[in-house]
Amino acid sequence: MAEPERLTGGCQCGAIRYRVAGEPKMLYVCHCTDCQKQSASAFGMSLRIDPAELEFTAGRERLQTWSTRGDDGNVKRCAFCPDCGTRIFHGDEDPAATISIKAGSLDDTRELVPVAHIWLGSAQPWVEIDRERFRCFDGEPDDEAALERLWRARRH
Ligand SMILES: [Zn+2]
Ligand SMILES: [Zn+2]
Repeated sequence: MAEPERLTGGCQCGAIRYRVAGEPKMLYVCHCTDCQKQSASAFGMSLRIDPAELEFTAGRERLQTWSTRGDDGNVKRCAFCPDCGTRIFHGDEDPAATISIKAGSLDDTRELVPVAHIWLGSAQPWVEIDRERFRCFDGEPDDEAALERLWRARRH
């Protein structure tokens, strides 16, 4: 197993800075309409991590949260910088549950290759995916544990 690199990131204005202490569980790209709206772009990128491994090095007390209810009925807590509006992570009501870093907030994402594209049923029509390279799902993936195993296998 490779030495886990320390992933660092922050919001656009720099008030909030963080690092991920451990190994992420997986990275995927989501083309759902919520992610399109949230990112004000074509898709979202989610880096799943253990919340205990997220360390704030600046601005933790500034983080604001906004909650919304997803199509699955679960409440999603969305943490963001109140100054510049950058979304930092999404979690659910259970603070111990896995959270998703909004991966565009990382300083350097070149090392991180997504394992899957999900919700392709609502992707922008010009998005073309290499289906040999990525696992593809029209909606929610059926087996997230399998995706996490695949992510780990490709990382090491
Ligand atoms: Zn900011
Ligand atoms: Zn989404």
